[in-house]
Amino acid sequence: MIDVNAHVLLIYTGGTIGMIENMETGALEPFNFSHLRSNVPEMKRLNFQVDTFIFEPLIDSSEISPDKWREMVEVVKAHYNDYDGFVILHGTDTMAYTASALSFMFENLTKPIIFTGSQLPIGKLRTDGKENLITALEIAADKNYDGHPIVPEVCIFFQNVLFRANRTTKINAENFNAFSSADFPSLAEAGVTIRYNSNIILKPDYTKDVLFYESLDDSIAVIKIFPGISPEVFSAVLNVESIKAVVLETYGSGNALCDDWFLSDLKKAVEKDIVIVNVTQCLYGTVEMYRYETGQNLLKAGVISGYDLTTEAAIAKLMFLFGLKKTPDEVRKLMQVSLRGEMNVDK
Ligand code: ASP
Repeated sequence: MIDVNAHVLLIYTGGTIGMIENMETGALEPFNFSHLRSNVPEMKRLNFQVDTFIFEPLIDSSEISPDKWREMVEVVKAHYNDYDGFVILHGTDTMAYTASALSFMFENLTKPIIFTGSQLPIGKLRTDGKENLITALEIAADKNYDGHPIVPEVCIFFQNVLFRANRTTKINAENFNAFSSADFPSLAEAGVTIRYNSNIILKPDYTKDVLFYESLDDSIAVIKIFPGISPEVFSAVLNVESIKAVVLETYGSGNALCDDWFLSDLKKAVEKDIVIVNVTQCLYGTVEMYRYETGQNLLKAGVISGYDLTTEAAIAKLMFLFGLKKTPDEVRKLMQVSLRGEMNVDK
């Protein structure tokens, strides 16, 4: 139910949705917000109030960094009590990383934070941006009969589907359905009406305050295993002085090569207290290291399971936990617990 007294803050960070073609180079470049507003006159017809906050400078999301994530948290924090919900316009390229990071940077979130963007600029005739923007604003303003927001979560809304942010991955550079949440059902689907999947939406404790976290530690590496991976490259990454954690992208249900150099490098890294988290390269499914001998070897080497975490969420969670100054042992423990609905640890 849309609350007609609702106030939503629309935060515009950049991305294709607001871009315009440079006539000389043909490249898409960020444009100013009046362009976005004038191209969506439908916004005036919403029966609740939308204010805007514009990032300066606007950026293509390939240029995003943890500093920008902090800025986003600061903006939401500064305006948290003044609004019922927030919509963040962001480029699609790194939206899953940013939205995953923000999901950890708020604890006991009591208001919706909905990320959206588009594959075609909003000024183009066939744009997907209008639909994404208008429905994201409606979801941010939607309330239950008890007056609480229907979706007090960090989400991505794209092409009629509302996803839990930390379950998403960008899977398509061409089609309008750019995102997938392979291991977790959608939180809502927008058709003639918006159908919410209420039983899986997180429920905060409204008697407690929301907590905002701004410190992140980026001493993280990602290593994707592939047949022929070179011992030199592998050990070079594990021996980087400042590394605190490695997201190891393995095959299938969490399997990797069994070569002595590989397992002994991993063991040495674990002995140096580097946290190694096993996530699968597959879009669907979870890590089960007990299933094959190759996975069991990783367990013996001290690698921990990332279950069905996406790489985006694994990076964000590690940055968040080390940002909290947790010890490697504490990080290992908390990586086995779902903090914001980011993983299923049943298996
Ligand atoms: N390069 C753009 C960005 O991520 C792509 C997009 O918005 O879809 O900012």
